[in-house]
Amino acid sequence: MRNVVIIGSGCAGNTAAIYAARASLKPLVIGGHEPGGQLSLTTLVENFPGFPEGIDGPVLVERMKQQAEHFGAEYRHGSVIEADLSRRPFRLNVDGEWIETRTVIVASGASARWLGLESEQKLIGRGVSSCATCDGFFYRDKQIMVVGGGDSAMEEANFLTRFGRNVMLVHRRDEFRASKIMLDRARNNPKIEFVTNTVVEEIEDVSKGVVTGVKLRNVVTGERSHRAIDGFFVAIGHIPNTKIFRGQLDLDADGYILSHGGARTNIAGVFHAGDVQDRVYRQAITASGAGCMAAIEAERFLEQEGH
Ligand code: NAP
Repeated sequence: MRNVVIIGSGCAGNTAAIYAARASLKPLVIGGHEPGGQLSLTTLVENFPGFPEGIDGPVLVERMKQQAEHFGAEYRHGSVIEADLSRRPFRLNVDGEWIETRTVIVASGASARWLGLESEQKLIGRGVSSCATCDGFFYRDKQIMVVGGGDSAMEEANFLTRFGRNVMLVHRRDEFRASKIMLDRARNNPKIEFVTNTVVEEIEDVSKGVVTGVKLRNVVTGERSHRAIDGFFVAIGHIPNTKIFRGQLDLDADGYILSHGGARTNIAGVFHAGDVQDRVYRQAITASGAGCMAAIEAERFLEQEGH
């Protein structure tokens, strides 16, 4: 029987693990299908306090993990594929093995959203990617396209100019969700070409099994065009990883956990932390803060229950 099981190993999960471990609760962290979370897919993080020169995302998250392990947190590879939160102890199925726990901290984050085109799905890993950091390297001197209008799209487009000959940034509107600093940086990058009011209708060439181009449509003029590209990066946001909690935890219409105050969910003893609940801030620092809150609440809950 575990005191605390933390689902997810991003900033939220790791920080919860540091706090829970320092409270001698010997937390178990289930790494999940994207160990290290979103930070492990990013490059330089310039806004995490304490690192005036910036720190690489994967390094930051790995150091958080080491800090948690130092205090006795245990990490396990794998994913929670089923959860029974109907009674205590809670039961979690980790890749076929059921474990029992007195409290759960859900820090399972949010995964990349796709456009939903059939051609996109067929060409994932064959020119279509959701992770510039992971795949940018393969597109040296190639023609790259990034889709999206938020900070992720700006960050990916900028990053990809290190590799690509040219980066086209396609966005469905002519206004951007991205912060001014990120947008300006992309606009001032001579290798980035902005293509606005435009949607992607098709990615080619499924018959060849590799990305060769895209069919675009201008949503204002209706004009259709074709562009030859080698790499297609989707950066249009994320979907919360809450499928296994449907019908148990209160979720909003998009699947994000609804908070019942602090880090509490609708189920006593089950807490939330990070992007799985936060659709507004979604920063490394806010996720870490949320992980801290969840661990403190779990600790108090266990104390009240006499453990
Ligand atoms: P986001 O802010 O939600 O932006 C998603 C973008 O994708 C929007 O421009 C949206 O267009 C577009 N989009 C959504 N669905 C689409 C579809 N089906 N087809 C075409 N376009 C679509 O997501 P994000 O950029 O991933 O950022 C998420 C959060 O992380 C934000 O809070 C952001 O500040 C943060 N972040 C920060 C940094 C940083 O500071 N270094 C880096 C990355 C992310 P519309 O605008 O038309 O809806």
